Order: sequence, then structure tokens, then C-alpha cells
Amino acid sequence: MNRKTERKELVDHLIASGYLSTPRVIDAMLNVKRHIFVPQNQSRYAYSDRPLSIGSKQTISAPHMVAIMTEHLDVRVDDKILEIGAGSGYQAAILAEIAKKGKIYTVERLSEIAERARSSIKECGYKNISIIVGDGTKGYKAEAPYDRIIVTAGAPKIPQSLVDQLEDWGKLLIPVGGRSYQELMLVEKRDKKIIESGLGGCVFVPLIGEDGWH
Ligand code: SAH
Repeated sequence: MNRKTERKELVDHLIASGYLSTPRVIDAMLNVKRHIFVPQNQSRYAYSDRPLSIGSKQTISAPHMVAIMTEHLDVRVDDKILEIGAGSGYQAAILAEIAKKGKIYTVERLSEIAERARSSIKECGYKNISIIVGDGTKGYKAEAPYDRIIVTAGAPKIPQSLVDQLEDWGKLLIPVGGRSYQELMLVEKRDKKIIESGLGGCVFVPLIGEDGWH
């Protein structure tokens, strides 16, 4: 089976399972070549709905988790987006497909992981993604505020810097809880008021840093 057909089957499965429904999110998942973002020795599993190891004890999230988060993030074409935890770069590529006229800043703590993400993103030709090496628990002040913020590692609590760097009427998605199990939280700023809601359980690697796990 060719890669495009594999992607179509995965997306059909995610739609049938109720994880995907918005046309622009569906198109992004049909377009982004996940096999470019997974290590070569796991390439045959690129379009299975499961997380995969990307080295340094980190993982690329399962496609259904990327679908859930991207649906909830409600990305618009010209959004300025901050991601914490670039990992493989796959989620950033999905965001870049939707925010075609916007910009994605993605922060990664581990430089060797960031380097690989950079080369996968370059190979796919995305020009609106910047990868920054650093501690994302402090956000990325240089480009704040952001319309959307997505954290793809599990935090013990919501870092205040991220709430501060969120634009009014913006949305922040972050897994919050224990080291091995979290609740996906949606934080919305509405007329400067903060509204938090829980969206269900999830499992992410720990967010490690000053305002994360130590
Ligand atoms: N979004 C990624 C998956 C992320 S895995 C993808 O699409 O593949 C979580 C990543 O968060 C790991 O690469 C880990 O190194 C990184 N991370 C953990 N703590 C961090 C921090 N404080 N700042 C930035 N990145 C962090």
C-alpha cells in the first residue's frame, strides 16, 4: 500500500472513531507525511494509531491524540501559535498546514530532538515553523502573545507564564496531573477572564523544567 493510501485509511478510522470531524483538521492529517517524522526503523508503523519512540525516552503522540488536541485547539488560518514540546515536529506540521498564513513557534528542551525535528520539517517544506531550544515552561516571551498555545508534555500544574503569554480570547491546551497520567485541560481567556475545562484523560511524557517536573 502506498503512503497516501495508508494515511487515508488512518484518517477514515479516526473519523469513524469520532476523533476527527473538522474539514481543515482532516485535510491537515491527510497531507502531513507522518512517516517523515518517525525514526526509520519504525517507518512501517507510521500510520498505525499509536505513539512511537523517537529516542531520548521521548515519543511522537498517537494520531488520535494529535486529532483530539488539534480539534480542540480550533486553529485559524492566520493564528500565531506556541507549542511546548516539539518532539518529532509532527504536531507542529499539522498546525502549520492549518495556520497557513500564521506562524508556529515550537520549543524543545532537548537539542538532539530539536535538530531531527528541524530536518523533518525542512524535508516537508514547511516555512512557517520555528524551533527554539529551551525550557518551554517559561513559554517564549520574545514572540508573545499567542492566539493558541499547545503543550504536548504532561505538567504538574498550569505554568503561569503560559497563561500570561496567551492573547485575550486565546486558547491553551495542556495535559495536567501526575507523571504518568494527566487530564487534558483547556484554558480560555475570555475578555481577560480565565475559564478552565477538563477534556478527559491522557498520557504524555513529563514536562521537565523550572515550572514543570524537576
Ligand atoms: N509534539 C510532539 C510530541 C512531544 S513529546 C510530536 O508531535 O512529536 C514531548 C516533548 O516535550 C519531548 O520531546 C520532550 O523533550 C519535550 N519537553 C519536555 N519538557 C519540556 C520543556 N520544559 N520545554 C520544552 N520541551 C519539553
